[in-house]
Amino acid sequence: MTSARAGVVVVGGGQAGHSVVSALRGAGYDGPVIVLADEPHLPYQRPPLSKKAHTEPDGIRVDLVPESFYRERDIELRLGDGVTALDTAARTVVTGTGTRVPYEHLVLATGARNHQLPVPGAELDGVHALRSLDDALTIGQALTTARDVVVVGGGFIGLELAQVAAARGADVTVVELADRLLSRAVSPQLQEHLRARHERSGVRILTGTGVQAIEGAGRVERVVTGRGMLPADLVVYGIGAAPRDELARDAGLAVDDGVLVDEQLRSITDPRISAVGDCARHPHPHADGLVRLESVQNATDQGALVGRRIAGSPAPYRSLPWFWSDQGDIRLQIAGLRTATDEVRVVPSDTPEKLAAYAFRDDRLVAVETLNWPAEHLAARRLLEQETPVCSADLAGATLGALARARRKAEVRT
Ligand SMILES: Cc1cc2nc3c(=O)[nH]c(=O)nc-3n(C[C@H](O)[C@H](O)[C@H](O)COP(=O)(O)OP(=O)(O)OC[C@H]3O[C@@H](n4cnc5c(N)ncnc54)[C@H](O)[C@@H]3O)c2cc1C
Repeated sequence: MTSARAGVVVVGGGQAGHSVVSALRGAGYDGPVIVLADEPHLPYQRPPLSKKAHTEPDGIRVDLVPESFYRERDIELRLGDGVTALDTAARTVVTGTGTRVPYEHLVLATGARNHQLPVPGAELDGVHALRSLDDALTIGQALTTARDVVVVGGGFIGLELAQVAAARGADVTVVELADRLLSRAVSPQLQEHLRARHERSGVRILTGTGVQAIEGAGRVERVVTGRGMLPADLVVYGIGAAPRDELARDAGLAVDDGVLVDEQLRSITDPRISAVGDCARHPHPHADGLVRLESVQNATDQGALVGRRIAGSPAPYRSLPWFWSDQGDIRLQIAGLRTATDEVRVVPSDTPEKLAAYAFRDDRLVAVETLNWPAEHLAARRLLEQETPVCSADLAGATLGALARARRKAEVRT
């Protein structure tokens, strides 16, 4: 396509960046579309990276779509040349190779970066964090020979990797500084349950203790924790991530643990610039204040919303947040947003493997966490998206699945 228009420039070729450009073309936008990506790979999905050991020498097939998808839609992907500066006055970005790229609309979809493990020895061979495809291949290779694996951080990625390592026969210990696993992410009731399930599968869990040092002659041999020494030939850590918002900050855009955006995901400083996915902090009707979410659902829905807005159909961002994590034979799913003060009720199902925790705020259902109960998760998503609230009395003795069916029947009758 030849055009004098500057068009849309997307910085970051991940889940959210991909969603922006597919929505733009899907909604009929016919100007130039350029994705500037620092990684050398086609846009790919990150969730599979922590859910199995990737040992394939040719890489992992996690591309979101084949390269032809972009070619056929006249979307220009410039891979392996990240953006280093943003000039909002000149409406231009500059890449690492010095190329200046003008924009009419700019979308920041730069994701997040892992926190580094701040202990002596973290630089030794055999100590890894997981974010990228290349990290996953390195860890996958290491898992083929590792016997003693220490996972630092009992969050989603740490627990997924702990199960992957245990399934390969390694002796696995998870070391978590907080008193509980997934301490902020799921309700205390589910934390206990998950801990028991992980321990039953042979993973050792140490909570309330930190890693003080990693030791070895050039490569990791042991991990020093507050509770003693653990032998280790592989250490994987997942201790959280921070938004990659430095481009925005250096360009003078408002940033506060993420690029600050309005309900249509436009920078509150410059409406020609949007931010989506892990790097954006935004208002949300389900949140108490601004939130920054790290999930596929959020990245995908935000990207699509911005793509459609630029193509001419603006709307506020209201998608219900949902999330999943596969930890061995446990599928954890979360719908909605829970806060620490919400009241949580746990309801076992007809089988011990399935469980749901329902979070109520002022007697209104706001979030549902399920273990191995996808039908209840889907019902939760349907009901939480509706205007009609679910209160605790609605749930007395029933599942959300039954409630959703009853409401549908009532709708058909009226
Ligand atoms: C191992 C792992 C497992 C996960 N599992 C789950 C899961 O089970 N369920 C779930 O819902 N979510 C999961 N997530 C989270 C989910 O993958 C992210 O929330 C999602 O990828 C966010 O999309 P994004 O586009 O904002 O960021 P990303 O997908 O991270 O993409 C951002 C891209 O921008 C690039 N970039 C950054 N700065 C620049 C620059 N200056 N110039 C050019 N490019 C740049 C980055 O290198 C990256 O390629 C997981 C994440 C990880 C790391």
